[in-house]
Amino acid sequence: VLDLQAPVQYVKGVGPQRAEALAKAGVRTVEDLLFHVPLRYEDRRQLTRIADLRPGMKTTVAGVVEVAGLRRARRMALYEIRLADETGRLKALWFNQPFLRDVLGRGRRVVLYGTVERDAQGGARIMMASPQYELLEDEDTPGVHTGRIVPIYEKLGPLAGKALRRTLWRLGEQVGELPETLPPPVRERLGLLPRGAALRRLHQPTDEDEPEALNLARSPAHRTLILEELFLFQLGLALRRQGRRDDRKGIAFRVTDATREAVKRILPFHLTAAQKRVLREIADDMQASRPMHRLLQGDVGSGKTVVALLAMVIAVENGYQAALMAPTEILAEQHALTLRRMLQRVPYSLEMVTGGTRAQRQAARERLRAGQAQIAVGTHALIQEDVRFHRLGLAVVDEQHRFGVIQRDDLRKKGYEADVLVMTATPIPRTLALTAYGDLDVSVLDERPPGRAPVRTVRRSASERRLVQGMVRDELAAGRQAYVVYPLVEESDKLEDVASATQMLEQWRQALPGARVALLHGRLPTAAKEEVMADFAGGRTQVLVATTVVEVGVDVPRATIMVVENAERFGLASLHQLRGRVGRGATASTCVLVSHGRLSEEAQARLEVMARTDDGFVIAEEDLRLRGPGDFFGTRQWGLPAFRVADLLRDRELLELARGEAFRFLEDSGVAAARDLLGQEGWARRFHLAGVG
Ligand code: ADP
Ligand code: MG
Repeated sequence: VLDLQAPVQYVKGVGPQRAEALAKAGVRTVEDLLFHVPLRYEDRRQLTRIADLRPGMKTTVAGVVEVAGLRRARRMALYEIRLADETGRLKALWFNQPFLRDVLGRGRRVVLYGTVERDAQGGARIMMASPQYELLEDEDTPGVHTGRIVPIYEKLGPLAGKALRRTLWRLGEQVGELPETLPPPVRERLGLLPRGAALRRLHQPTDEDEPEALNLARSPAHRTLILEELFLFQLGLALRRQGRRDDRKGIAFRVTDATREAVKRILPFHLTAAQKRVLREIADDMQASRPMHRLLQGDVGSGKTVVALLAMVIAVENGYQAALMAPTEILAEQHALTLRRMLQRVPYSLEMVTGGTRAQRQAARERLRAGQAQIAVGTHALIQEDVRFHRLGLAVVDEQHRFGVIQRDDLRKKGYEADVLVMTATPIPRTLALTAYGDLDVSVLDERPPGRAPVRTVRRSASERRLVQGMVRDELAAGRQAYVVYPLVEESDKLEDVASATQMLEQWRQALPGARVALLHGRLPTAAKEEVMADFAGGRTQVLVATTVVEVGVDVPRATIMVVENAERFGLASLHQLRGRVGRGATASTCVLVSHGRLSEEAQARLEVMARTDDGFVIAEEDLRLRGPGDFFGTRQWGLPAFRVADLLRDRELLELARGEAFRFLEDSGVAAARDLLGQEGWARRFHLAGVG
């Protein structure tokens, strides 16, 4: 029998040199090689006789090249052959591939796969244009490359084309019975093939296999291998989550009448149903003795900050301190303003630990250390820097649309067993939430507070500048405010970018005589930024020409128009964030997406999505579809597993199925059995999750 763990070197057709090259492609064992999943499959079971070909058929023929020649026509190189079998002759031609002369010469035995067309040039009655081709060498085992459903593979290091197919065919032949990784009841419920059979049929489809199912990765073999992989992955997440639940080192807060009284005094409005539900989930976590590690997802403006504040009230009423961390100073400042306003009717003292003068920061830190202040607001640096708390009970991390910046472990390292609530304004598609955050508890705010007028989104081209300026002028005339945003490469803003933003500022000043227009960019010193923001928030300036620094969390209800210049250069997540800056009051708002030049297909698709919907989850799904899971999270790729067979975009429903079974298995069979199942391989290593703890 075949030893799956044997080094790939001993596979026939590989050898030491190729094995070395394969190792670079991550293939070390026979098993690695067997998990090189075909890109697609071609049904070559029935070779069509040339005499039976009809225009429109997509099919495979085999024969001998009788005539071949390269000629030039209208500045193109045409390589043309006549292929003959016992029943007739077929013309085939390729454009601009002169090297074919050396591949498909006279006398070669060839298989062609393509669509049959009527031949406009006369001569032969029918033809194939640019069909896929494969040479049939005499020594080939019959039935490897033709006469079956043939797998097509992506090149793998030094192995490609038919050599690769031959190798995997032979390996497939040798795969016998393999030990099963999943327990029988699970396999039965999921309807899996035996593991050996699945691996074999991946490379050697049988007559029971449908080409369509194979190509959709829904054949019994594909389903088996995908579900197996996803089950093990989700079981690992289930175990982690269980571990967290069994951890009793957290604080068991109590929710008392005093807490409820404080909440009532603070709230200027009624919570939405979604806010109530989420607050209950958070309060349950906080009351339990295990530490909370919860992700709060909610679109911009869905009311996360209020919920976070109420969680902070629970901590403070229990005699603990709470910290709120934001990704930028501007946003921290904004949060501090909001919280101060809402905390007016309770005797909590709040300290801003970033920004301000050195002496102010020093004093703030001292009050936190001594326990005289209950709430700290700052940037993410708050936890890394030397801020000491008297008794930290809750850390709220506002990550906006970043991920995984701060982990509970960072707090632990500093000796705090505080509860952690992570907020993100980027709706995460469910598939990704179940993988990247699959071991966290997730709360979703999926309802907007009442009284918000919708935001109308329009697309304009750069040549319609006057029109756009007119739209802004109208808003200002009605006593409202406007954002104009330019894309800059980095948050620090390069000098030349600042120069161009300054130019834009001048343009807008000229276009809006009498209006006060201010410029905000990353190069400004913190104090200046704060002044610009405060002037805009206070209505002392009407137009804020800004770079991307404005995108996070800024809340100015009187701003009713958002102009995004070079909108084609922003990603969907950023556009969605930017649009969320308007529509924060009761007045109808507008978002104008101005695009410059010819758009790439993807940019076009992005802007269409923006114009079509303002549902953050729909936008996130589109973003995922357009960019793929890796890019979706940006360069961090935080916690995204590397799958061998599964594909997060394609296998969404199988993911749900596997997750259900994995969590059920842990429930039924217990932690020891689950550990056993994941045991030998090292779960995190297997899915390349080393960085996540
Ligand atoms: P997020 O942090 O999710 O972007 P915020 O918490 O900042 O949203 O809320 C956005 C705005 O909506 C704020 O002005 C807030 O006061 C208001 N708001 C939040 N919840 C409600 C509610 N239940 N009813 C009315 N207004 C609300
Ligand atoms: Mg907020």
